Amino acid sequence: MAKRILTGDRPTGPLHLGHYVGSLQNRVRLQNEYDTYILIADVQALTDNFEHPETLGANLFEVALDYLATGLDPDKAKIVVQSMVPELTELTIYFMNLVTVATLERNPTVKDEIKQRNFGRNIPVGFWSYPISQAADITIFKADLVPVGEDQLPMIEQAREIVRRFNSLYGKVLIEPKALLGQIARLPGTDGGAKMSKSLKNCIYLGDSSETLRKRVMSMFTDPTRIHPTDPGHVEGNPVFTYHDAFNSNQAEVEELKERYRKGTVGDVEVKQRLFETLETMLAPIRERRAGFAAKPAQVREIIMEGTRKGRATAQATMEQVRHAMKLDYRFDRG
Ligand code: ATP
Ligand code: MG
Repeated sequence: MAKRILTGDRPTGPLHLGHYVGSLQNRVRLQNEYDTYILIADVQALTDNFEHPETLGANLFEVALDYLATGLDPDKAKIVVQSMVPELTELTIYFMNLVTVATLERNPTVKDEIKQRNFGRNIPVGFWSYPISQAADITIFKADLVPVGEDQLPMIEQAREIVRRFNSLYGKVLIEPKALLGQIARLPGTDGGAKMSKSLKNCIYLGDSSETLRKRVMSMFTDPTRIHPTDPGHVEGNPVFTYHDAFNSNQAEVEELKERYRKGTVGDVEVKQRLFETLETMLAPIRERRAGFAAKPAQVREIIMEGTRKGRATAQATMEQVRHAMKLDYRFDRG
């Protein structure tokens, strides 16, 4: 059997540069080798957006456009809508018995996200326990590999623990997945924050117009200690240079800009202008392909439905094995 990939995104907005370097690039590269499933995790997105479920449908479509625009081929990578695979809910419930409260409370990514959202003690149980449902997402597709950003490593570890526990209790049915980090494991936000994230509004989106892209780059956070272009500046921890390192393939130019920035012989405006040009070159074809698919919504919906149909069939096959292993296939109907 071909090895499998499962990964995905929450439909909380269109996809951004962080997704691109953190996960999308690897998905596109590996779709020829792996049987690939890409989950649009609307049920997980509900865990902190349950007051506005009406936003998910439109965002789901935007995320699908980003997939197609960046080169995911629907004949190879199946786009699957999480809420249309009810087997995931069933597996999540079984997994809940295999995880302790203490383990959930230790998850460093969830801890950070709880802080960001100011939940305090009023954390919805659904949000707090989403690493369990994410383990179901990964394992129901029997994924070997999960291309993700660094924030997801604790989730993969949680999934691995659950698989070990399940397999030792009930028999070897599930596969222990491995994480695959992207070229940049965690891209900072345009505001200098540790992570570009849809929920933090510090993003450059893959579908941004040229004008919006220019505005977002020109207003990026740089070195707050530098007031005049002639002041020596800091390159480390400066997101403009982190983006140059990530996206500008002209290494000599990046080194030269860094050198001049440190000496105070280049202004922020020029460094940002060069970054804008680099990103514009990279994003223009993606933007164009995106617009092409956006003009054919019926075709995109068809791609999503077909991917989901195949994904569900895979999930159902795994659940038959799960129920059998757990001795839940009672067969009362057979007398
Ligand atoms: P949200 O704010 O709704 O959580 P998000 O921007 O964190 O959105 P997700 O849908 O949660 O995006 O993440 C999807 C995938 O993209 C995950 O594998 C995640 O690790 C990766 N990813 C997201 N942001 C970044 C980033 N800034 N750098 C690297 N990888 C990222
Ligand atoms: Mg996230």
